[in-house]
Amino acid sequence: MHTRRMFGTKMFAALAAIPAVAQQAAPPQAPAAGKGRGPVETPEEYEKHPEGSPIPGQKWKVHDLQRPLPPKVTPGLPILSPASPSDAIVLFDGKDLSQWSGGRGRGGAAPTAPTNKVENGYVEMGPTIATKEKFGDCQLHLEWTTLGEDPTRHGQGRGNSGVTMMGRYEIQVLSGYNNPSYSDGGAGSLYGLYPPMVNPTRPEGEWNSYDVFFEAPQFDGDKVVKPAYVTLIFNGILVHHRVALLGTTSTLPLAKYTPHAPEESLSLQGHTGKVRFRNIWIRRIKGYDTGTEYFHPDPPSTPGGH
Ligand code: MG
Repeated sequence: MHTRRMFGTKMFAALAAIPAVAQQAAPPQAPAAGKGRGPVETPEEYEKHPEGSPIPGQKWKVHDLQRPLPPKVTPGLPILSPASPSDAIVLFDGKDLSQWSGGRGRGGAAPTAPTNKVENGYVEMGPTIATKEKFGDCQLHLEWTTLGEDPTRHGQGRGNSGVTMMGRYEIQVLSGYNNPSYSDGGAGSLYGLYPPMVNPTRPEGEWNSYDVFFEAPQFDGDKVVKPAYVTLIFNGILVHHRVALLGTTSTLPLAKYTPHAPEESLSLQGHTGKVRFRNIWIRRIKGYDTGTEYFHPDPPSTPGGH
């Protein structure tokens, strides 16, 4: 853990010295929602992804087949399904997608309403959906399950979705109980950067929970002055502990930052295979000392009348 945090510090120093846009080998892939994005790779194309660039601060390459798979851990059951606290924004309560938009439309057209199926307390992924409200530092809870009824789908093609913080930083959702793929692309991975420390994914058809603690990156013009940090509790188990991201997660090439607003929409990725989400709520992390009330000690006792 300490080592990983040291990597984060080193990366921060390195990132701070580099203009964010200068890191871009190519324009960033816009975090498109719905059908407005470019062509989507087929599962077969995904499986053929070669190993990518060396990952700064690590000894691995992107999608490195030499990188070990995270050990499987059986989580305690039932998985966590907490009701939303009073200061949370409920993004999906099982009934409707009123907090979400679907496709963004082209040429500045207004976002479209989501077309994803909602039933029995869950939303089933079709197209990508994005929150209408935007968020920066936050605590996010959600639950997901994959359905693997299609035997022709495997690896990245099987139950692939994602929880994409700020529409850029993907925490992978994938059928992960008995569905091998490269380690930095498995369920709970910070896509293309870090596999989860352990793999507590439940079998297909059973629910999993993510509790995400996210710190938004900060930019000064084109420079990254603070990277994004992600902590993930996966089925009640810590699998990432304040990991510094290298930028917008990407299949290939390596993740890069491009400056963006302090708050952006959270998106759920529509990708391949059937994935369902339920019980989604989020809290803004506002830091310490945001209260408006104060403690008033009892007044000193009235002196005696003598
Ligand atoms: Mg994904």
